[in-house]
Amino acid sequence: TGTHPTFSRVMLKISGEALMGDRGYGLNPPTVERIAREVKVVHDMGVEICMVIGGGNIFRGLQGSAQGMERTTADYMGMLATVMNALAMQSALEGQGIHTRVISAIPMDQVCEPYIRRRAVRHLEKKRVVIFAAGTGNPYFTTDTAATLRANEMSCEAIFKGTKVDGVYDKDPAKFDDAVRYDNVTFDEVLQKRLAVMDASAIALARDNNLPIIVFSLDEPGGFKGILAGEGTYTRVHG
Ligand code: UDP
Repeated sequence: TGTHPTFSRVMLKISGEALMGDRGYGLNPPTVERIAREVKVVHDMGVEICMVIGGGNIFRGLQGSAQGMERTTADYMGMLATVMNALAMQSALEGQGIHTRVISAIPMDQVCEPYIRRRAVRHLEKKRVVIFAAGTGNPYFTTDTAATLRANEMSCEAIFKGTKVDGVYDKDPAKFDDAVRYDNVTFDEVLQKRLAVMDASAIALARDNNLPIIVFSLDEPGGFKGILAGEGTYTRVHG
């Protein structure tokens, strides 16, 4: 088609569960390494890369609070889980020779850098991969919202949301054989139809700042690079 935009700075959002591999909990090092290789291919093209990794493979605030824990405490535990995932990814990326900084919304100076916007921008300009950890630093939010917030702050051109499926469907493709994938869908449609892309606050934040979300499958080898080039199947969520 030839009209696909080229990207110079992007946000890659992956869930914590994407790091689990075939395990039921926690981190599977070969899976973390595989994703790091996907990132390396794109990094080698000169694209500046921000990442946000969820924490659901270790702890989710809502689950904790359903078990009687105070919600905000449970959410802080979820945010701490994202820091562990970020450190694992940093280690895997540095194993591939890519300079990587973990920047936490909750300061923990011995572990990683605190979030200072200008410093984060500088890292990107120096072609370091920047992993934003601890979500937004606030309970009642998700890492999808954190990814959207940081993508806006870093002036990313799009959010690439790597999932288990190759886009947004009208119903769960794991449960329904007749689920249909959208090529394009608007933010408003996602909100109205409650399509499972990101939570409503993340979608609204993307919509209000005209930041497209590209939903693609992380399971396809070379998928991230291909999607950046407009190849393969994916869903583009836009204004
Ligand atoms: N969380 C939070 N504030 C944020 C981001 C995350 O409180 O800004 C907590 C929340 O409890 C959430 C957990 O961290 O359940 C893990 O994040 P998320 O569920 O977004 O991870 P994912 O589903 O992407 O693995």
